[in-house]
Amino acid sequence: MTNRTLIDQLNRNACLLRHEWIALLSSWTEEESAYARGLAVEAARAQFGNQIYVRGLIEFSNYCKNNCLYCGIRRDNGKAVRYRLSQADILACCQTGYALGFRTFVLQSGEDACYTEERMTEIIAAIKKNHPDCAITLSLGERDAKTYQAFFDAGADRYLLRHETATETHYARLHPPEMTLATRKACLTALKQIGYQVGCGFMVGSPGQTPELLAEEFLFIKALEPHMIGIGPFLPHSDTPFHGEPPGGLELTLFLLSLLRLMCKNVLLPATTALGTLHPLGRELGIQSGANVVMPNLSPVEVRGSYLLYDNKICTGDEAAECRACLERRMNSIGYQLVTDRGDWRPLR
Ligand code: SAH
Repeated sequence: MTNRTLIDQLNRNACLLRHEWIALLSSWTEEESAYARGLAVEAARAQFGNQIYVRGLIEFSNYCKNNCLYCGIRRDNGKAVRYRLSQADILACCQTGYALGFRTFVLQSGEDACYTEERMTEIIAAIKKNHPDCAITLSLGERDAKTYQAFFDAGADRYLLRHETATETHYARLHPPEMTLATRKACLTALKQIGYQVGCGFMVGSPGQTPELLAEEFLFIKALEPHMIGIGPFLPHSDTPFHGEPPGGLELTLFLLSLLRLMCKNVLLPATTALGTLHPLGRELGIQSGANVVMPNLSPVEVRGSYLLYDNKICTGDEAAECRACLERRMNSIGYQLVTDRGDWRPLR
């Protein structure tokens, strides 16, 4: 079967078999990628029109107990300048964001035990009280099901927890021995059961990734049926064990975005900051590959430059308003509109 046939089949049936995924991902051309991207843009248009959902990202702590080999805020990176935002700081970010038209706030951090269940629950409830019309997305890593439930009860709506890779041996290559894929998957299952809109995802071009492993990503995601999928290129950070590894490819990231859109027609799919860091027009190209979400940074400018997962991260000096205006211009330039909307997951039209 030719790759175009496989892409058409994916578009029609929203699935492929393992050997078909491997064939498609093992060898493809830029023309085939352009074909998939064209279909993905059509699929996104059918579901979302020319509307792009925006999420205000608040990176509230870069302390982390974990030691993921790829990540710049890993525990052993003694050069990272650590910070934590207080509840008042976080509420101020939301206030600014609300005035700018954000209706989703994404609270992201390292795995920082300082934000206990009690403290985090208070923060969530306070945001909900100030902004009852807004959605709250959490991205704080692994916690137990009881804590996830408490956050949900306090008003959290969505949870982002990238699985990072769907294969145990590859997971072990990217993480220290105390972290397991089984735990990650158990967290995703618990989050779904509780009723969150759930996001999984992986890095494109992480060390050791192969077409066969990428095939597993698609099979895993298809089975999980997430509401959101976060993918972006792996980018090296100079103070991590992966400092010398090459970054993930632009073309591959765009191709994978388009295939994810064809497999999951109504999924919420961001054009990530990592993609914008890899290429000056990365986020525009992401939208032109089927993505429908952007996540401008709402973190206070004083701490922006310290939440560095990888080198050369963009937008570390801009005020929230500049970040939003910049993305708005960028989206307008390719024929899309940012909308003031919670941007919840909805069934396929
Ligand atoms: N502690 C939270 C948030 C992690 S940071 C959690 O565990 O979910 C969010 C995502 O950034 C990670 O899931 C990872 O996929 C991505 N990331 C981390 N380091 C990266 C790097 N060097 N290049 C690209 N993406 C990276």
